[in-house]
Amino acid sequence: MSYLETGYLTLEDIRLPSEERLLKGPVAVIECVQQIPCNPCVASCPRGAITMGDSINNLPVVDFEKCNGCSICVANCPGLAIFIVDKSYGENKALVGMPYEFLPLPEKDEEVDLLNRQGSQCGTGIVRRIRNSKSQDRTPVIFIEVDKDLAMDVRFFRRKL
Ligand code: SF4
Ligand code: SF4
Repeated sequence: MSYLETGYLTLEDIRLPSEERLLKGPVAVIECVQQIPCNPCVASCPRGAITMGDSINNLPVVDFEKCNGCSICVANCPGLAIFIVDKSYGENKALVGMPYEFLPLPEKDEEVDLLNRQGSQCGTGIVRRIRNSKSQDRTPVIFIEVDKDLAMDVRFFRRKL
């Protein structure tokens, strides 16, 4: 069944980095599938790692080798459709960076409930880093330590408070 019917994406809808690339370090995963006139992701990437071809309606494509996972594009995407996945983070753990526009922000080392693309809880994780500079225009990026096998499933979180 397509995401148009279910309302959520599956891994088959998304262009993924290779496992080899994921194990090298942080990288952007773009989960943007609707052809709309939008390109802040392309404009914001300092490494020119995101391209879109000659139409602003095209879907963005990440060059996973150029991307260093800086997360600038995550904060600049109005669709909250970009995530950072780092499977080099630990032996059994990965770090997943995601946009978060709710207040109050979680705190470093806080345990949170992890949610998948369907909005279902899929485990718990620990907030390890919060990137929230003025240049991010009120879209902080929260990096959460998760079990490595959940790195491609976790796409949101809920505070336990
Ligand atoms: S994470 Fe950084 S380097 Fe990678 S695509 Fe986004 S802005 Fe570019
Ligand atoms: S900025 Fe976000 S919503 Fe817009 S094209 Fe890029 S990934 Fe898609």
